[in-house]
Amino acid sequence: MEIIIADHAGFCFGVERAVGLVDETSKNNKDVYTLGPIIHNPQIVKKFSDQGVEVCEDPESFKATDTVVIRSHGVPKKIYGQLQEKSVNIVDATCPFVKKAQSSAQKLGKGGATVVVFGEKNHPEVKSIVSFIDSEFFVVSDESDTMELPFRNSYALVAQTTQNSESFDKIAEILKTKCETLTVTNTICNATSLRQASAINLAGQVDVMLIIGGKNSGNTTRLYEICKSICKDTYHIETKEELDTDIFKTSRKVGITAGASTPGYLVDEVIEFLKEVTNEQD
Ligand code: SF4
Repeated sequence: MEIIIADHAGFCFGVERAVGLVDETSKNNKDVYTLGPIIHNPQIVKKFSDQGVEVCEDPESFKATDTVVIRSHGVPKKIYGQLQEKSVNIVDATCPFVKKAQSSAQKLGKGGATVVVFGEKNHPEVKSIVSFIDSEFFVVSDESDTMELPFRNSYALVAQTTQNSESFDKIAEILKTKCETLTVTNTICNATSLRQASAINLAGQVDVMLIIGGKNSGNTTRLYEICKSICKDTYHIETKEELDTDIFKTSRKVGITAGASTPGYLVDEVIEFLKEVTNEQD
């Protein structure tokens, strides 16, 4: 049995940085918390909990002796104020690409444009981006939302970092018909599209496709859905324990990919498990 790993799989830059910051912070500080789960991966959250890092969702509950890590997709501006008022030690793991989306939106709004954010209205990252805009703004999730926007003298377009570039361009085209001046700042990060493109490529070449990552991870679930539409024997697992060896009895090629929030060691464990299965079959 041949095992092929997608060219782009697992931790993206921002998640790797955030996880590294939590690890380092927990070694040097007591009373360390993450404001919400650091990533959508239960195994990593459990690992940090074993290191004494707890998850807390309520910024009002901290004390001055606490250290609080802000996760990679950022928090609304007012949360910084709440944490500063409590004098907690803030470790900001907001991904630099998300910071860029926040600061672009802020600057464009200050420049007098009505800001349009292409993204999911209720996603924490979008909530954080819009919190930095002091002027009028709209959030659009697709082209039909954009069609509904009123005419304005000046619009400025930014995006949630994980959105699709093609849709972003289409939204920009629609916005051009809704204003005199349009400023477009593409704040999309390519980590998601690279993972999807290499998963699509791999799913077309294999008998079985394994998608590793949190069941609560949106980007991992999306990889599963895409691959399932190409390779019918596609499975979404969090760890090797979920694998049924019968799946591999007739398979010659197994493809593996993992979401941007999946740590490398979980992927390695699955690969080791598959190698053992292969040896048993020989
Ligand atoms: S997907 Fe991109 S923007 Fe989001 S955390 Fe990863 S590197 Fe940063």
